[in-house]
Amino acid sequence: MEKRVFTDNKLVIASHNEGKITEIKDLLLPLNIEILSVYDFHIEEPEENGKTFEENALIKSTFVSQKTGLPSMSDDSGICFYDLGGDPGIYSARWAGLNKDFDLAMSKINDAIKKKKDPSYECHFICSLSISWPDGYDVTVSGQIEGKFCWPPVGDKGFGYDPIFKPLGYDITFGQMDPLVKHKISHRSIAFNKLINLCFPSLKC
Ligand code: IMP
Repeated sequence: MEKRVFTDNKLVIASHNEGKITEIKDLLLPLNIEILSVYDFHIEEPEENGKTFEENALIKSTFVSQKTGLPSMSDDSGICFYDLGGDPGIYSARWAGLNKDFDLAMSKINDAIKKKKDPSYECHFICSLSISWPDGYDVTVSGQIEGKFCWPPVGDKGFGYDPIFKPLGYDITFGQMDPLVKHKISHRSIAFNKLINLCFPSLKC
């Protein structure tokens, strides 16, 4: 696993998703560095043509790092249903369409699962995080959390597919969960803890 201690004083978050930007900013809060996002630079989104979450994360962080000349961190994530052969998976954002309509995306999942015989309703969120530096160096890690599909969607906290995901061991969805609790257990925080070991050892508690 590649390792590089982060010594820069700026980091650009390579995402256009406000929900992700907020969560990543919260996770990075203890670092005493300036956190910027693509909105500070008016950078377009690169084509995400990777075949895995890791590949897509790296595409985004490399693109933004090369455009800004600053280190950049990206998140590629999504929800995967065993009953649907892993869908929507890396296409999680695309299932919501151009209008980013997650009510529609969640209904599509429900419709697809309803057609299955004896569905397990098992699913997981995956998050891959990449940091790319302008000199071409990069680090990528991933985290995963298992859970169960919940229908109808419940909760107005969080974003995206949070209202239909009940993490294993909890009786509420991510959509009902206090964000501080979600940040402690989520796929994003599992990946982030791996990144701390590799790049931000001063954040280790
Ligand atoms: P992408 O990584 O930009 O391709 O988008 C992944 C999609 O998965 C996002 O649009 C989110 O809606 C969804 N997603 C990723 N992480 C989470 C999460 O923590 N909660 C809810 N939805 C998520």
